[in-house]
Amino acid sequence: MKRILIANRGEIAVRIIRACREMGISPVAVYSDADQSSPFVALADAAYRIGPGPAAESYLCIDRIIDAARISGADGIHPGYGFLSENADFARACDRAGLAFIGPSGSAIRSLGDKSEAKRRMRAAGVPCVPGYLGGDQSQARLSEEARKLGYPLLVKAAAGGGGRGMRLVSSEGELMPGLDEASREAQSAFGDPRLLLEKYIQHPRHVEFQVFGDRHGDAIHLFERECSIQRRHQKIIEESPSPVMTPELRSRMAEAAVTAARAFSYSGAGTVEFLVEEQPDGSHSFYFLEVNTRLQVEHPVTEMRTGTDLVKLQIRVARGEPLPYCQDQVQASGHSIEARIYAEDPETGFLPSVGRLAHWKEPSGPGIRVDSGVEQGSEISPFYDPMLAKLIVHGEDRNEAIGRLEQALLQFEVLGVRTNIEYLIDIVRHPAFREGRTHTGFLEEHFSGWKPDTSIPAEVLLALAAEAVTRPSSRRDFATTDQSGDAFSPWKFGGTWRNAAS
Ligand code: ADP
Repeated sequence: MKRILIANRGEIAVRIIRACREMGISPVAVYSDADQSSPFVALADAAYRIGPGPAAESYLCIDRIIDAARISGADGIHPGYGFLSENADFARACDRAGLAFIGPSGSAIRSLGDKSEAKRRMRAAGVPCVPGYLGGDQSQARLSEEARKLGYPLLVKAAAGGGGRGMRLVSSEGELMPGLDEASREAQSAFGDPRLLLEKYIQHPRHVEFQVFGDRHGDAIHLFERECSIQRRHQKIIEESPSPVMTPELRSRMAEAAVTAARAFSYSGAGTVEFLVEEQPDGSHSFYFLEVNTRLQVEHPVTEMRTGTDLVKLQIRVARGEPLPYCQDQVQASGHSIEARIYAEDPETGFLPSVGRLAHWKEPSGPGIRVDSGVEQGSEISPFYDPMLAKLIVHGEDRNEAIGRLEQALLQFEVLGVRTNIEYLIDIVRHPAFREGRTHTGFLEEHFSGWKPDTSIPAEVLLALAAEAVTRPSSRRDFATTDQSGDAFSPWKFGGTWRNAAS
């Protein structure tokens, strides 16, 4: 592979461009009108416009992306995550066009994208699954009969689901019919497939997933786990490895199940096998298979920081037909790593996306700190896409060191122009239950449902602090180097030791 087209945007496009460059591969970008001035467009060797802002008219248009790949002379396509990354038709379209799709086969994507089929095959392979109904008989009579057998509370899920859509919690028999109705309507409109499955609702589980990798020669390994229990509305916001609940015995049982799952589908490339972990009354832990994500995960840097691997390069090598470069025993993990997702959203309006121009953007840096971002000072944050601005990933010798480092790095992050969730993340990281590793998927609901940003500091003081931050000597250097105005009276040149201190 000499030229790879990246069918994605933002931080993941930047991340893939970096891996391509290090491998001597020429990276090509595609972009929508809303992304014309985004850093990833400038970083690529060539960039092709594929349509207007809305994803349905640009990043989801298979034909336009394949055309761009042909024109650019690319021989491979990396789909990133989201958009077309788990679309079997896209993988097949790449094959037909003679382009290497950097991901698993179209048939593995299709089978694993169907939660019912995936779970049926996992059961057959001996992987423990959440008890439930996966059958083809979707009549109301059959579903209510199965629900009665399963007991309440239960979860109704869209067989074709993802991103929490088509999922309903049903606490009692009276809620079942409305729950089935809503879930199948949502499933039909989001995925064009109304089929549902029923699952026992596990109380206070942890979300623990294993990074797996397969090659095209039948080999499969894992690269340890990540715990992603800190979720808001089923969306992960903090992920870490190792899981605070993990014991060597539990890890080896779960890892074996994950690798069995990958082998059951002759899986090639990067995949994530997701499980729920439930604490039993005697203190032991049971785990249940949830689903396989057939792509690079947003939180993959957590694994990279702990194992010293580069998962994007590994994806490219496997897609080139190379065997996995190491066997299971050669994969070593050390220390503790945590990721926090920085979103442009407004905590005061219930975390609605916050759009606008990034008037000031300064990322933290230091030993054990990595920031994967797709924005820079001056970037316009548009309403069209996921509002994630950056991922802050830290690594420390142990969990305590990693948490301390994350807290300090979050405090150092400077963002002006859009609202962010940084304050929220700081409060989570400082919470005693988080510090003690007492996490579960309802953690934020339990501890943060009434959370409000601290508005006790008057707006004028905040503005004064912001002004102080941007004129601080370290920032002033940044401004001075970018100050092309030639204005001899530019305040960035004359900041001196000026401070806007309250007296
Ligand atoms: P999606 O593919 O829509 O993201 P998943 O099946 O991966 O749906 O589940 C997403 C999240 O929903 C999990 O991380 C967990 O928090 C919760 N969840 C899913 N299934 C169950 C279950 N059976 N019991 C309790 N919580 C669940």
